[in-house]
Amino acid sequence: MKYNLVLIDNRLVIDMNVNDVLEFKADGYTGLPEKVELDVMGEADVIGIVELSDEQVVKIKAEYKNGGECDWCGEIASELSFPHFHDFAIGKRMCRNCWDHDRDVYKGSCGDDIGDFKTTEANINAG
Ligand SMILES: [Zn+2]
Repeated sequence: MKYNLVLIDNRLVIDMNVNDVLEFKADGYTGLPEKVELDVMGEADVIGIVELSDEQVVKIKAEYKNGGECDWCGEIASELSFPHFHDFAIGKRMCRNCWDHDRDVYKGSCGDDIGDFKTTEANINAG
């Protein structure tokens, strides 16, 4: 499978050919599952073509499904977790850094251990 390699803000971005017309965003993979404004992607200079194997495409699509923007720090992560019980918010997802930070804070302040970071996929598989 061949994809365009484009330059956006001096960064290399793979145009994954996935456009969300409702949110006006395109999937632009940079090593992290980032989203790019559709018009920015459309106007970006194509500087090459990359060929991805089926396995790589599956892995990248999984990152878009399981990862994205952390609702706490705003960083893009390839894996996100549902929030822990001390900071529960429906529909929100948290990155590993925020989780580990909170884990230390709650261990220190009230002695509760929120446990290891678990991806949303692991949560769903566990029921
Ligand atoms: Zn975070």
